[in-house]
Amino acid sequence: MKTNKKPFPLSTVSAANGIRQRIDTNPDFQRPAVWSNSQKQLLVDSILREYDVPKMYWRKLSSKPERYDVVDGQQRLRAIWSFVDGDFALPSNAEPVDDLVTAGCKYDTLPDDLRIRFDTYALDVVVLEDTDENEVREMFLRLQNGTSLKAQEKRNAMPGKMRDFVRSLTEHTFFKRVGFGNTRYTHDHVAAQMVCLEMTGGPVNVKDSDLNRMYLNNTAFDITGKAAKAVQRTLGLLAEIFPDKTPELERYNAIALYCVCAELQRAYVVADVKAELRAWFLDFEARRRAQDALDEDKAEPEWVAYKEKISHSTDAQDSIRSRMDFLLRDLLTRFPKLALKDNQRDFTHVQKLTVFRRDHQTCQVRLKCGGAKVEWDDWHCDHKHAWSKGGPTTVANGQVACPACNLAKGAD
Ligand SMILES: [Zn+2]
Repeated sequence: MKTNKKPFPLSTVSAANGIRQRIDTNPDFQRPAVWSNSQKQLLVDSILREYDVPKMYWRKLSSKPERYDVVDGQQRLRAIWSFVDGDFALPSNAEPVDDLVTAGCKYDTLPDDLRIRFDTYALDVVVLEDTDENEVREMFLRLQNGTSLKAQEKRNAMPGKMRDFVRSLTEHTFFKRVGFGNTRYTHDHVAAQMVCLEMTGGPVNVKDSDLNRMYLNNTAFDITGKAAKAVQRTLGLLAEIFPDKTPELERYNAIALYCVCAELQRAYVVADVKAELRAWFLDFEARRRAQDALDEDKAEPEWVAYKEKISHSTDAQDSIRSRMDFLLRDLLTRFPKLALKDNQRDFTHVQKLTVFRRDHQTCQVRLKCGGAKVEWDDWHCDHKHAWSKGGPTTVANGQVACPACNLAKGAD
């Protein structure tokens, strides 16, 4: 791979019948833009203040004329184009730039000095040449996740039981079913993240620094211990759910799906739904793709938020937690009778969330209220058919109760 850093003036990048037509901002490893208006405005404001905008990476596909795929920087590029096209204005409360008023300005109404500054702003672009699809995909993943390509290679060189255990997991049948390859030890990396999640018992940061610490602190890891067995059980469940190669099992959803299956195995009577989980997951991915294809303002906000979560910082605790919750909530909506193990009385977090959303956060009991709207911090997840009388702790048997009605209803 040859790399070549060049400054591109924004006027050149934006000319409607020039280079712009030969840049593909949506090659197939990318996901459609998800930037909000305020993010776009902030970028334009930064450019007008001549702040440094991070480098973009373009892959050169051909010469004469040059054609490019955007490996990194598509949201920024689209925001720049959209501003030049007059699609959005700067905020009405924008601070002046060098005493020039920019509030409410579109590109065409900017003070001339600022428009010139915008047009001549040099965007740093790293042009990648003579590179193949795999290299570009790896680079994209690295740029998106902020992880070093070499990090897992380095971990694989750290001797110890943790290294050996993670290496052994990559031989598991599940990794033969996934849609992503093992270039640069991607499977090792994902397996290490799974172990890290299992050792904590739920969503946690699984960035390189966290994984490095795990390898260092567990050189004597017990490969027959509780965490090791739990990982193997969950991988076993995944391999059962997906009996053949499933391209939809992509790098970006493997970890969240793993968390869902770990939770299913921990808390639910998974045997009831096991045979239908594959169909549910494929349907989930089909709906995600359909939402992906819509314009941002036509897509459902929850799916837009999910798309955002699978595009950035996917190894952060918050992101993993919300992706897992979204998947599990979708699953519980589809299988509302899915029961907890051991006759558990308390609803889980995601069961509550599913009921809360399904009932539109409105009291269903209506003994004391006429269907009051409740807030997340102040409501009760009520068993329709009382738990004490044999009612199961399922989404189907749950309902929103306001505090007054809950008190009035008595025994649950
Ligand atoms: Zn009520």
